[in-house]
Amino acid sequence: MTAHGDHHIDALIVGAGFGGIGAAIQLDRLGYRDIVIVDREDDLGGTWHVNRYPGLAVDVPSTTYSYWFEPNPYWSRLYAPGEELKRYAELVADKYDVRRFMRFNTTVESARWDDEAELWRVTVDSGETLSARYLIVATGFLCQPRTPDIPGIESFAGCIIHAADWDDSHSIAGQRTAIIGTGSTGVQLIPELAKEAAELIVYQRTPIWVLPKIDFGFAPSVRRLFAKVPAAQRVVRWMTDTTMDVVMLIAMWKFRYFKGLNRAASAVAKLHQFSVIRDKELRRKLTPDYDYGCKRPTLSNSYYRTFAQPHVCLETAGIDRIEPDGIVTLDGREHRIDTLVLATGFDVWEANLPAIEVIGRDGRNLGKWWRENRFQAYEGLSVPGFPNFLNSASPYAWVGLSWFNTVEYQMRHMNRLFGELQRRGAQTFEVTEEANARFLDRMTELLEDSVFLRGSCATSRSYWFNHSGEAPLFRPTSARSAVKAQDRFPMSDYAIA
Ligand code: NAP
Repeated sequence: MTAHGDHHIDALIVGAGFGGIGAAIQLDRLGYRDIVIVDREDDLGGTWHVNRYPGLAVDVPSTTYSYWFEPNPYWSRLYAPGEELKRYAELVADKYDVRRFMRFNTTVESARWDDEAELWRVTVDSGETLSARYLIVATGFLCQPRTPDIPGIESFAGCIIHAADWDDSHSIAGQRTAIIGTGSTGVQLIPELAKEAAELIVYQRTPIWVLPKIDFGFAPSVRRLFAKVPAAQRVVRWMTDTTMDVVMLIAMWKFRYFKGLNRAASAVAKLHQFSVIRDKELRRKLTPDYDYGCKRPTLSNSYYRTFAQPHVCLETAGIDRIEPDGIVTLDGREHRIDTLVLATGFDVWEANLPAIEVIGRDGRNLGKWWRENRFQAYEGLSVPGFPNFLNSASPYAWVGLSWFNTVEYQMRHMNRLFGELQRRGAQTFEVTEEANARFLDRMTELLEDSVFLRGSCATSRSYWFNHSGEAPLFRPTSARSAVKAQDRFPMSDYAIA
């Protein structure tokens, strides 16, 4: 209860994906019990609940793509299929008993800080307003699917399916099918679509670097070993964690000194292409002209091979318009199609930073403030002017290739911050302007050596860059150093009262 007699909960968490589940586990461990997790979907799992297109699999080794405190010995393969990730989310939520906090089919419309009551007032789509001492937005970077603004798309008479809203009841067997988009999703989907469609036209605007995927199944005996001797899986995890971390550190953040590694990765991708595609012109079209690392590269053993099939056509002429029965390219040719698949990604900038309207102290609007003052967040989590607020998908929050790297360092940050509040018997925290500015300066300086600033990225059309040409999504350090930093940040960086 507040001084005004308001009923309020301890914490409201927005999003029941791995970030929200992690935040709830952390708060629960600290003794907060009055927690509500809201999610607009009808079940938990976030990205792994929403995405269920054919071919969906994690493209980071599963030993690394999991909570550090909850290894899963039962992954069927090194790169587990999507449904195993969804099951893992359910298993963790049940084991740590955080499902009891969850409310589904609930969309947050806005959140406003009430300075007098020192509470967040959060309005949801039913019209209800929830009052919470702490607000944690854990919606992720990739939660707003993007439908391309192509002229005529609304006139298409066939079936349109977005990869992030897969329609299991629609069969493309024997159909003329087109797919727009060759990002990580397209690379996983295209080989699967080619298995069913009579004809598959792939509309590529920007090619992607694709490396071979060294994947293998875990034999039942290995899974039993991992279950019985967790240390054995820890060793494998240490190897996959270290490999991912070192590769990302030197290829992306220390590009200035290790360009050779990026060139070697591009050479491996070209060799991989050469081994399966004989047509020189096709290879040229599939080869990016930007540096490896400017845009998210991916892994696949079947992607390039798919283009060698006679019923698969790569179309690079650019789309002029969509008509009721097909797609017309800029050079005037039309492909007639029955089904159009959109693997066109997510709106990372406009609709997602932040994912909901957040109004802090003195009416400061987070989205507006970021756009007027550069994207910034202390330790990728907290923002001055926004007391008792943590936003997991903030500028500089993304570290490492596995989302669990971000989840881990943020849970450790929460552990220290909320632990300190409890030690002092305090109720509110707010990062200081000075600490935030210092963090931003450090991130800006570290980016100086990165592929984003030193590489040739102009043609990459990478969603890692914003409209001003800045790339403030990633924390340009190793995941390990981000985790360690959470034991060291000065508590005086927060005003705690
Ligand atoms: P994406 O990387 O943003 O790719 C979207 C694709 O759609 C791009 O090829 C883009 O072309 C194309 N596109 C968008 N609008 C278009 C238009 N109007 N006309 C023609 N082409 C258009 O999205 P994504 O493939 O969904 O991947 C997003 C992220 O999800 C990945 O970076 C990754 O982080 C994550 N992901 C992870 C996994 C996993 O296994 N863990 C799997 C899938 C996705 P341009 O490049 O020219 O813009």
